[in-house]
Amino acid sequence: MPVQSVAIVGAGIAGLALALALARKGISSDIIEQADALREVGAGLQLSPNATRVLADLGILEALRARWTEPVSIDLCSGLTLATRTSIPLGKAAVSRWGAPYAVVHRATLQRALLDAVSESPLVTLHLGRKNEGMSAADIALHCTHPPDLIAGADGVWSQIRKLVPGAPKSSFSGNVAWRIVVPFTEAPPELSRDRVSAFMGPGAHLVCYPLADAGGFNLVAITGGFDPGETWDARMERGRTIALRDHFGGWHPVLRQLIGKGEDLLYWPLCQASDGAWHDGSRVVLLGDSAHAMMPFMAQGAAAALEDAYVLADAVSTLPLPRALAAYEARRKPRANRLRQRAEFNRRIYHASGPLRLGRDLALALRPASAFARDFDWIYGYRAAL
Ligand SMILES: Cc1cc2nc3c(=O)[nH]c(=O)nc-3n(C[C@H](O)[C@H](O)[C@H](O)COP(=O)(O)OP(=O)(O)OC[C@H]3O[C@@H](n4cnc5c(N)ncnc54)[C@H](O)[C@@H]3O)c2cc1C
Repeated sequence: MPVQSVAIVGAGIAGLALALALARKGISSDIIEQADALREVGAGLQLSPNATRVLADLGILEALRARWTEPVSIDLCSGLTLATRTSIPLGKAAVSRWGAPYAVVHRATLQRALLDAVSESPLVTLHLGRKNEGMSAADIALHCTHPPDLIAGADGVWSQIRKLVPGAPKSSFSGNVAWRIVVPFTEAPPELSRDRVSAFMGPGAHLVCYPLADAGGFNLVAITGGFDPGETWDARMERGRTIALRDHFGGWHPVLRQLIGKGEDLLYWPLCQASDGAWHDGSRVVLLGDSAHAMMPFMAQGAAAALEDAYVLADAVSTLPLPRALAAYEARRKPRANRLRQRAEFNRRIYHASGPLRLGRDLALALRPASAFARDFDWIYGYRAAL
């Protein structure tokens, strides 16, 4: 018999989306979240058409559309000269090519839209301030309003639920960190474009910049080498040490160097990746989102993949008996997650290239038409999440 009730550990993008997707199939859920209140983590998110298609199916596209920006293009630029190497059209071109919009939005806006929809559903109960650490499946069931048929680990890159899945993926620090800076529109230099995503590439580092209308400023994410501050999304670099960040951008264009210097109290994230491993225990525990496949953000696909997982998992458990549903979910999702991870790693090498590789990259970007790059993304952005 398909499942009737699910315990979801983690109220991030994966957990909230799963609760919504299950509710649409008539399945109830209890979400168990460690935080006392759902607060904003990080700043911006790019939501590609494969992600916005899921948001449309979950019924929250219109609420978001009023607040997000749909950029006209993604521009790959030199961090040293600001020259645009190629420009991949988005906006109307994204809708007509991939069937859904490409958008940029503050994470808090997405989380709020998901949370509002979850709160309206009588089938979802959210339990805040309940940290699941070392809990058995039986302990988790005690937190729930209905005895769960299934436990879904949506508890992120440092997942505890993995411990209930023999052979589950393991997380490790990648050696890279992501620095987050939001620069108000009023303080931004004119060289930054308000209607597009700009990715500035340079040796050993890159900087992604896009406007967040809902935050009144530009979202900047700088990715460099760095050290691991441990399991936290709130590592802070004191003022004096921002020099260390600027050192990664020696030789970059002064406009960008100045921009990076604007961060008063810099926050950074350790970038971790999950290894390949089992996504379920064959009976009643399953992983999704970063707990299953945390990936480097070089393709901006982690949250998109979490939304896709949620949608496919809800499809599977509402149509198939449990062991088969879990196998079908993993078979449908794992090859794609692995391919996305490989593509992100490819982008890391391309974005951070130096020497002859950089010259080859720039030549290829100059010679290849933008439509060929758009075609490369068809398998990513044109994907339809369904079993
Ligand atoms: C710098 C950077 C930029 C990115 N940009 C993009 C982008 O542009 N587009 C994109 O698609 N993706 C992007 N990503 C990836 C994306 O942020 C993640 O893949 C996504 O947030 C994963 O969602 P999740 O719900 O699986 O995990 P999380 O968002 O980490 O949520 C996990 C939840 O579980 C809770 N939790 C954890 N442990 C426990 C516990 N023991 N008990 C109870 N609750 C627990 C946490 O408090 C949290 O609420 C980016 C990532 C980084 C680092």
